[in-house]
Amino acid sequence: MRRGFILISGAVTVLCGALVGCTPSASPSSGSAVHVVATTTVFADLVVQVGGDRVSVRSLVPAGGEPHTFDPRPSDVTAFADADLVVMNGLGLDDWVVDLMSDAGSDAPVLVLAEDLPGADYIAGEEVGSINPHLWLNVAYAIAYVDRIETALADVDPAGADGYAERAAGYRSELVNLDASARAELAAIPESKRRVVSFHDAFPYFAAAYGLEVVGTVVEAPGQDPSAGQVTALIDAIQASGVSAILSEAQFPADLVEQIADETGVEVVADLYSDSLGDQPGDSFVGLIRWDVDRIAEALQ
Ligand SMILES: [Zn+2]
Repeated sequence: MRRGFILISGAVTVLCGALVGCTPSASPSSGSAVHVVATTTVFADLVVQVGGDRVSVRSLVPAGGEPHTFDPRPSDVTAFADADLVVMNGLGLDDWVVDLMSDAGSDAPVLVLAEDLPGADYIAGEEVGSINPHLWLNVAYAIAYVDRIETALADVDPAGADGYAERAAGYRSELVNLDASARAELAAIPESKRRVVSFHDAFPYFAAAYGLEVVGTVVEAPGQDPSAGQVTALIDAIQASGVSAILSEAQFPADLVEQIADETGVEVVADLYSDSLGDQPGDSFVGLIRWDVDRIAEALQ
């Protein structure tokens, strides 16, 4: 059973619960290559895993970049010239892509991975009324992203559907194993060491899936440094709640995290990946999860 997905064409949003009447307007533009534009390297990798050689993928935010504060260059509009499909997360992570497509005059179909995701237990974001967008860090939800990518690629390239189904099935098996091994590895952390603070609010779905408790964040949003009062309040909260580690990511400056660590004595895991892939072994989604799980398990022993 194929799942529905959301297509945005220009200003019109269509929620497709079934494929009937939901055929994207674009078809692969040339040869056998399906051209996909993804907002981040994480989603680009998921597309590559399902699409294989039949698909060429470009990520707008480069590896090590930050989607929340991403400022597209004027030249990024050229990415859409031959796009057959645009893949974004939604939920406020990468909404800038909609304006960028408008600037480019692109009417390529858009797959929104995170919105109305079947089976998702959504968690509120930092801003009132918002939903936290980082669903892919729960591997079970990343599998649901893969389902949507499989459906969307088959819609824009029906001739490749069998290959996409085969690759998606193989990748889903790999992700099911990854999810189980993450669960097993993090289950070994003692109950008393499961409380963490994260730099930005990237890990609530990861924490809910794998048994951690995020008691606070260093910044309300990337690019918004906390006031002195907020830092003091966070230090008090860390000391009062028995936090074992601060989780931060390679793309953020470490000095603020180190200041808080110095004042509280808690451990810092400063080289995690969340919104963006990085160098090996964090250069694939599977590598990202393995790296984060290993580093966190090591820090919280
Ligand atoms: Zn983020």
